[in-house]
Amino acid sequence: METTLRGVGVSHGVAIGEVRHMGTAVLEPPAKQIPASDHGREQGRARQAVEAVAADLMARGNLAGGEAQAVLEAQAMIAQDPELMSDVDRRIVVGSTAERAVYDAFSHYRELLAGAGEYMAGRVADLDDVRNRIVARLLGVPMPGVPDSDEPYVLIARDLAPADTALLDPALVLGFVTEEGGPTSHSAILARALGVPAIVALPGAGELAEGTLVAVDGSTGEIFVDPSAEKQAELERSAAERKAALSASSGPGATSDGHKVPLLANVGGPADVPAAVEAGAEGVGLFRTEFLFLDDSAKAPSEEKQVEAYRKVLEAFPEGRVVVRVLDAGADKPLDFLTPADEPNPALGVRGLRSLLDHPEVLRTQLTALAKAAAGLPVYLEVMAPMVADRTDAKAFADACREAGLQAKFGAMVEIPSAALRARSILQEVEFLSLGTNDLAQYAFAADRQVGAVSRLQDPWQPALLDLISMSAEAAKAEGKSCGVCGEAASDPLLACVLTGLGVTSLSMGAASIPYVRATLAKYTLAQCERAASAARAADTAEDARKAAQAVLSGE
Ligand code: PEP
Ligand code: MG
Repeated sequence: METTLRGVGVSHGVAIGEVRHMGTAVLEPPAKQIPASDHGREQGRARQAVEAVAADLMARGNLAGGEAQAVLEAQAMIAQDPELMSDVDRRIVVGSTAERAVYDAFSHYRELLAGAGEYMAGRVADLDDVRNRIVARLLGVPMPGVPDSDEPYVLIARDLAPADTALLDPALVLGFVTEEGGPTSHSAILARALGVPAIVALPGAGELAEGTLVAVDGSTGEIFVDPSAEKQAELERSAAERKAALSASSGPGATSDGHKVPLLANVGGPADVPAAVEAGAEGVGLFRTEFLFLDDSAKAPSEEKQVEAYRKVLEAFPEGRVVVRVLDAGADKPLDFLTPADEPNPALGVRGLRSLLDHPEVLRTQLTALAKAAAGLPVYLEVMAPMVADRTDAKAFADACREAGLQAKFGAMVEIPSAALRARSILQEVEFLSLGTNDLAQYAFAADRQVGAVSRLQDPWQPALLDLISMSAEAAKAEGKSCGVCGEAASDPLLACVLTGLGVTSLSMGAASIPYVRATLAKYTLAQCERAASAARAADTAEDARKAAQAVLSGE
């Protein structure tokens, strides 16, 4: 029997495939004492699990070949290390369960490695991975981390942290569904960047059995469990029709009467550039540079490594505009070398520009790397700071840019309500504003972006959020400066028309959304967008705002 579950659709398209769960971190097995009569059985279980994990790693190595094969074979050898195995046996004989003995033996070995010089310490992650695999097998829970699968699948996770993103293979992930996360969470942003259909805030998703066939409709937020062949065909047909209609749209973003609204791409690094170019992005409206820092949260990437990554993105848009955001660490994107470990409330703590002002050397290296990367290129470089609260913050950032000798426009993100309220004051220090509507909603509504239960308040159609956007856009107009949107609000085609009507001057979004926004914007005049914006702001709820804008635009 086909059943339907409903969440919040955050990335368009249809994905049909089998469910694979993202394994949660391995729990520490309880330290319980077993009787002597169980020792032999537990030793047998431990050996079987070790052998199965080693065989699995070898098999994957054979499939992968090349460098990956060498790494996986080395991991298989770690699993079968005779010293480790005798330690496991010894621990079982004194009363540990198999899983606890493996956990403790590996922890002991881990400590030795961690203290044995830089090269050995680098192997700790491999050791942890092997331990997690063996313990997960003994506990009968899914392997931690990204699923082991050679076949494409629909990924189900509680939530996805930005650090998980590096591990996802876009060729294998058909789509994904998370239990947590609102429409502006990083799970949603990642889905758009990958261009795969996705649904967030669907609490029952974790209960779907591994291997269940599902159809995910990222446009409506529905998952069909065990869909019939007719249902699958119907969903695929309508997705194909939508895609065909879209591919007919091309060229710069504009309303039907020619009011230009540049459509820019949000990127996390050079890997996202081809999709942006293919979607016809007129530049980059948000380069989230923190993704370059997530590989190794213990230290910042070197200046040379940064220059290389920035240059690749800048070169992709000759004569285009590229807005680079300096490192936005903290809260949901902590970095060990920057983020205080003991903050009671990290989203309200030292994050974004605040971290950089506390670590001026990190900001200086980033700005110098940007200046070097842009040298000699015809690109229009713009650099902006995340989490600007007031004019003091804006001035500190602009001063740092000037000191680094950066030839670029300096801007401030409007992500904190205080910045929207005092946008004209901030604009005395910088040349443009960019609205980060994800955080702006989080802080305006006191609703954590990561918490699915409050997703109603993160809805970018909330009239109070529209008011803050309108204030910022009007301030920029009065100062003769620009005000774009780079938060997820820009990727909703209908809302993009409303934002245009509110006076926003550019829209930046995940590449996959650009054709949808371009096609919708091209249907309406600027005056229609302005009327839709006024109608939306006059509503009292997000839902009524959406309906009111829709009614105006469809001429009802
Ligand atoms: C935002 O907050 O809207 C934004 C664009 O920044 P991020 O999503 O990376 O926090
Ligand atoms: Mg933000």
